[in-house]
Amino acid sequence: MSSFSAPKGTYDLIPPDSADFLAVREAISAPLRRAGYGYVETPGFEQVELFARGVGASTDIVTKEMYTLTTKGGDELALRPEGTASVLRAALQANLHRGALPVKLWYSGSYYRYERPQAGRYRHFSQVGAEALGAEDPALDAELVILAADAYRTLGLRRFRLLLNSLGDAECRPAYRSALQEFLRGLDLDEDTRARIDINPLRVLDDKREHVQAQLADAPLMRDHLCQGCKSYHEQVRELLLAAEVPFEDDPRLVRGLDYYTRTTFEFVHDGLGAQSAVGGGGRYDGLSEMIGGPALPSVGWALGVDRTVLALRAEGVALDVPSGTDVFAVPVGEEARRTLFAAVTELRRHGVAADFAYGGKGMKNAMKSANRSGARFALVAGERDLAEGVVQLKDLESGEQTAVPVAEAASAVRAKLNCPSAR
Ligand code: AMP
Repeated sequence: MSSFSAPKGTYDLIPPDSADFLAVREAISAPLRRAGYGYVETPGFEQVELFARGVGASTDIVTKEMYTLTTKGGDELALRPEGTASVLRAALQANLHRGALPVKLWYSGSYYRYERPQAGRYRHFSQVGAEALGAEDPALDAELVILAADAYRTLGLRRFRLLLNSLGDAECRPAYRSALQEFLRGLDLDEDTRARIDINPLRVLDDKREHVQAQLADAPLMRDHLCQGCKSYHEQVRELLLAAEVPFEDDPRLVRGLDYYTRTTFEFVHDGLGAQSAVGGGGRYDGLSEMIGGPALPSVGWALGVDRTVLALRAEGVALDVPSGTDVFAVPVGEEARRTLFAAVTELRRHGVAADFAYGGKGMKNAMKSANRSGARFALVAGERDLAEGVVQLKDLESGEQTAVPVAEAASAVRAKLNCPSAR
């Protein structure tokens, strides 16, 4: 051990567990790429103001959880706490919204929130996200929800649920907001919560404390205040999900922790995760572009938490089909064998075969141990006697069966055994 360890609320990804993270990122992003989403990568930090305006000045994320810093040049920056505001900022900056719409983008990266660490809640975490910018079409909302649900399903997750709600729009939300404020002002609430009634009353619905929830049983719900446009939009999203056989639960109290959502809002929760049950979420954010100084650009997106998806897989006992990193492992005994097998390994790698080598001049016994540990199906073994006969031994590590093959054919023999397409 060194004198240092990973900062509080963070952890390192190391083999073999790290392979699960790559597999989850791949399982979520591959269907996005097939659905026309292009890869976007933005800086790990942005101007604080982007998040203050984009995420919402009254949210926990902005008031309590941002890692902010002042640069030597006097810029106020924050490590990104989420992806949407940055992706939208990047798309606007590159004028993507002037081209064909919707602009469909996906991303994968690290996010930072100064939260109280606990199981499933970290200060550094990983998300894969998708945003479809510049179109108001219920099929687009449905597409994103279906892509997320299918990704979880493909990974083997079963115990997840999709919660769905509509948060209304600029036409119907103001009246609902006032109705809710009036209701909330009549309750017995602490000072902080009372302050929240003025700034962001919808967030009070999301309060997890029991004595607050107990008073909210009769709170007015957005569902009953949706305007005709929002109602019909939401109905179309629901119908498309039903037609695609993506089960969902209507959750009229779902509000989520970011201010920018309008209309469609959803969250994926997993029942094996305890308190931090949200594995992903998103929704429509038709006003966000204007909030950060852009043109009107109705958009929808989601972010799925990679860390929690991995935890959910473990909770369900799903073993991902992660292929072994190594197909063949070379075990040389003696200097000449080292040269010969190193050349074979290089040739195999150049043909795309996953090959590894016993480095460090280990004895035969230790080298064979490394071969077995690598997960390789085959070992190429050679000692002085083999080379004197012009052969190397190709050993099947599963059956123990061993065949001598001419040195010059070592690589192609391995490839033939592995059923590589163009092997002789
Ligand atoms: P949010 O942007 O808060 O909707 O987060 C989207 C997803 O990211 C959540 O559903 C979680 O899976 C994941 N996530 C958010 N915050 C954290 C955190 N502090 N630690 C781990 N995962 C997180």
